[in-house]
Amino acid sequence: MTQDRDGVARPPGMILPGATLGVLGGGQLGRMFALAARVMGYGVVVLDPDPHSPAGQVADVHLMAPYTDAVALMRMGELCQAVTTEFENVPARSLEILARRTYVAPSPRIVQLAQDRLHEKTCAKEFGCVTAPYANIEDEGELVHAWAQILGPALLKTRRFGYDGKGQMRVNNLDELVSAYAAFGRVPCVLEGLLPLQREFSVVLARNALGETAFFPLAENLHRQGILDMSIVPARLPDHVAAAAQQMAKRIAEGLEYVGVLAVEFFLLRDGRVVFNEMAPRPHNSGHYTLDACVTDQFEQQVRALCGLPLGDTRLLSPVVMVNLLGEVWAQGPRWDTLLRHPGVKLHLYGKTDPRPGRKMGHYNCLAPTLEAALTLAETTRAELGIA
Ligand code: AMP
Repeated sequence: MTQDRDGVARPPGMILPGATLGVLGGGQLGRMFALAARVMGYGVVVLDPDPHSPAGQVADVHLMAPYTDAVALMRMGELCQAVTTEFENVPARSLEILARRTYVAPSPRIVQLAQDRLHEKTCAKEFGCVTAPYANIEDEGELVHAWAQILGPALLKTRRFGYDGKGQMRVNNLDELVSAYAAFGRVPCVLEGLLPLQREFSVVLARNALGETAFFPLAENLHRQGILDMSIVPARLPDHVAAAAQQMAKRIAEGLEYVGVLAVEFFLLRDGRVVFNEMAPRPHNSGHYTLDACVTDQFEQQVRALCGLPLGDTRLLSPVVMVNLLGEVWAQGPRWDTLLRHPGVKLHLYGKTDPRPGRKMGHYNCLAPTLEAALTLAETTRAELGIA
């Protein structure tokens, strides 16, 4: 393994099938990465403390240890020719330790950047993206100043560890801001102006170490209670909006010398402006439609990008609507037999046993000759499953 001046391992050219790949984190994204890697003939090592983790179930080796466990990280480094991550909140220090032993992509520096909303927004602005107006709040003393900058209505968001609408609260005045900040435990936050959204959508792209970039078709995303509910592809967006967002995402990927799959979420405002929301240094829930509707899916693409291979064709083969399956669906016992009676439905379950409300348990893709028919199929099947 060659190393650069910082002692960080550099990509060793192409890593071919037969090699072993590692993934930090054993959730559904790790599971789908592991499945894609195994289909392509790679061995897979997963590091996750949960003995029942979705990715651990399908890996060749499941290292059951905390992400900070030095022995487990060393073992992972020894076993794997390359390592990636399936969630951005893995300790950056663990990635750095791994990066001294094996090739890690995306780089620890980028994963660390994506862990913090403030750094992420600053970086997006540097690369020419428009963001919502925001103010940084390091401590209580900055609340009044932050409020004066944004003047609500606004969203208070914790800078770290927010996901699926968690760690954010709407505030309409300074009193509400003070209470919300206390409710979050007075951790560093950003206060963000509430924007008039017309649509939400995402760009998922892949970039390999040679700098080759491939975009998946944009996904139009519908959320409920801050959690992705459905993705619609092709997204119902004007071409110039799609092109502007792709340009911004590409500038971020190139500017960061990104390697791997990168998801960037955008808002289209009612006045037509395109605004950067956030990014994820990994495959994304809004890219799950690619599993059944594209020539290459986002997890195969993650393997290809990580391994320095040519990127696969991202062509859309069919209109598709992806529907997320959250724990609520299990309350009445999901009728998979009814769902699978529809030949255009492709079901993906993540092997999770505890269906808590709001927990992502699986998803399904509805494929049909037209987008209207795919939307109708999604609505029919949601009604059958009792999804409101
Ligand atoms: P986030 O975790 O930042 O992706 O936010 C979760 C959801 O909250 C988004 O998908 C939007 O529906 C909504 N949201 C976030 N930020 C804003 C904003 N500045 N203005 C309006 N809606 C927002």
